[in-house]
Amino acid sequence: MDYPFDAIVVGAGGAGLWAALELAREGVNTAVLTKLYPTRSHTGTAQGGVCAALGNLEEDHWEWHMFDTVKGGDYLVDQDAAEVLAREAIETVIELEHMGLPFNRTPDGKIDQRKFGGHTSNYGEAAVRRSCFAADRTGHMILQTLYQQCIKHGVRFFDEYQVVDLLFEGGEPAKGGRAAGVVAYRVADGQLHTFRSKAVLLATGGFGRMFRITSNAHSLTGDGVALCYRHGIPLEDMEFFQFHPTGIVGIGILLSEAARGEGGTLLNDKGERFMERYAPKLMELAPRDMVSRAMYQEIRAGRGIGGKDYLYLDVRHLGRKVIEEKLPDITEFARIYEGVEPLTEPVPVQPTAHYAMGGIPTNVSAEVVRDEKNTVVPGLFAAGECACVSVHGANRLGTNSLVDLLVFGRRAGRQMARYAGTVERPGPIADATAPVHAQLEAIRSRESKGESVAKIRHELADVMMDNVGVYRDGRLLTAALAKVRELEERNGAVSIGDCGTVFNTDLLEANEMGYLLDLAEVTVVGALARTESRGAHSREDFPERNDARWLKHTLAYRGPKGPTLKYKPVSITRFEPKPRTY
Ligand SMILES: Cc1cc2nc3c(=O)[nH]c(=O)nc-3n(C[C@H](O)[C@H](O)[C@H](O)COP(=O)(O)OP(=O)(O)OC[C@H]3O[C@@H](n4cnc5c(N)ncnc54)[C@H](O)[C@@H]3O)c2cc1C
Repeated sequence: MDYPFDAIVVGAGGAGLWAALELAREGVNTAVLTKLYPTRSHTGTAQGGVCAALGNLEEDHWEWHMFDTVKGGDYLVDQDAAEVLAREAIETVIELEHMGLPFNRTPDGKIDQRKFGGHTSNYGEAAVRRSCFAADRTGHMILQTLYQQCIKHGVRFFDEYQVVDLLFEGGEPAKGGRAAGVVAYRVADGQLHTFRSKAVLLATGGFGRMFRITSNAHSLTGDGVALCYRHGIPLEDMEFFQFHPTGIVGIGILLSEAARGEGGTLLNDKGERFMERYAPKLMELAPRDMVSRAMYQEIRAGRGIGGKDYLYLDVRHLGRKVIEEKLPDITEFARIYEGVEPLTEPVPVQPTAHYAMGGIPTNVSAEVVRDEKNTVVPGLFAAGECACVSVHGANRLGTNSLVDLLVFGRRAGRQMARYAGTVERPGPIADATAPVHAQLEAIRSRESKGESVAKIRHELADVMMDNVGVYRDGRLLTAALAKVRELEERNGAVSIGDCGTVFNTDLLEANEMGYLLDLAEVTVVGALARTESRGAHSREDFPERNDARWLKHTLAYRGPKGPTLKYKPVSITRFEPKPRTY
């Protein structure tokens, strides 16, 4: 089939849905393609909240929010983008409230707000209540609210259509070509369809599945990011991957920072609140990169619980009422997955791979840019976790992702509507599906009894976790690069059990494995080159931040022998870099 539309949105998480809603309100003929049912997108698992300087409980200002975002990102944040984020956070949260999102309320009926790591009053004075929440199900409520609005406004959904290629007219992006649509694989019957469109938004989320212990859903394999890379668009700041301090031991399911925002503490084997030693002012509410490093330090010093590789999260003192009203889901997770009763026992936790700061480079209108001069790829947009605008720099603050989806999802939709009004729809593209058809058939029809995808996936997850995790050094990264390249080689010969066309998830997993390997290679190459420590990228052989040399964004281009790196400057408008203490 060949479907003509004026706008296509790939991904039905918070970013994609808000963009689609904006397009539909503008009367643009829009389709959303999603490999999952919309309400199963990872946004639905977000727990803790979405921040905006509403000042409902204490004084707050968008300038403070902007400053915290810049400092939290270890000054690698583009400050023009951080200003947009902090200013527009306020109106987007209020718009969500008007759409009917059931936020928790203060006694006088305002949206309730709680503390979160790195969010402070008066440029770092003390923790401030900035995160708006619906218990610990904030993402679920956002996703449901936006999906209902999309249905109401007549957005057309193609569920379980997995986008496997991007189409361009007038050449590849590097040659000045414009986005012309996508190729999608219909999961139900294995058919390939082309969707032609004036504007295409990528909102495909993160890629945490390259790590062994991760909070990320199985679907987070970086599809949109990898497809851009394969079409010659460079990827920005991929060496920065966030580890969240409090995952369930061994499996990584998240226990939200909201637990600490409500007053939960972290304890070592001696019962000490060890964060005192690392962030005396904010303690457990220091940014995530710092808390995760502190936990590793404690574990290395033999102060993990029973000498093992985890610590305790303690919420016992919060009492039943707070726990039941504000943290019901995560305390239930502790009961189900760890057999621990948080009302009476501390909960074992360890850092878990959580969030990709890097991704597809965009400007503040969510337009994809393709070089160090920020040249726009006409018609191609990206928003949400797959994009790098860059508001998170080297380390994202908690609750700043959901607001990124709202602010830049909305901007993407508006800019796409404007753009779609100025261009003609691309004509049919001859043999549009041929390249990806050949690629998928090569996997499906492989005769030899090769290795399984699962084996490659486990080995990749192990090496990324052990060598490219919270702490890194040149030796570990060099070994990781060799391993990733070996796995790429081996992945070229994997064979799958199912050779059919109906719900062939084996085939899709094998295809996704290729995306993860591409992105892992870019991550490692960027990390190896960056000989400093900044935010989530912590090199034990280069422990200091080096602004003179490294206050710049990495751009990784696909080359014949792997990624080649170039760099572009950081936008600094209000806040000069300073040492980062909390
Ligand atoms: C457990 C957890 C808790 C979190 N809690 C918070 C929080 O409290 N506050 C906060 O700010 N952030 C939080 N985050 C981060 C935040 O939730 C995510 O960064 C954000 O939801 C990502 O949204 P998105 O719209 O970019 O993509 P997602 O919500 O991840 O959706 C991706 C969409 O893309 C589609 N897709 C992917 N590939 C394809 C393809 N090839 N073809 C078609 N469709 C495709 C999927 O079907 C899906 O619809 C949390 C993250 C996790 C994992």
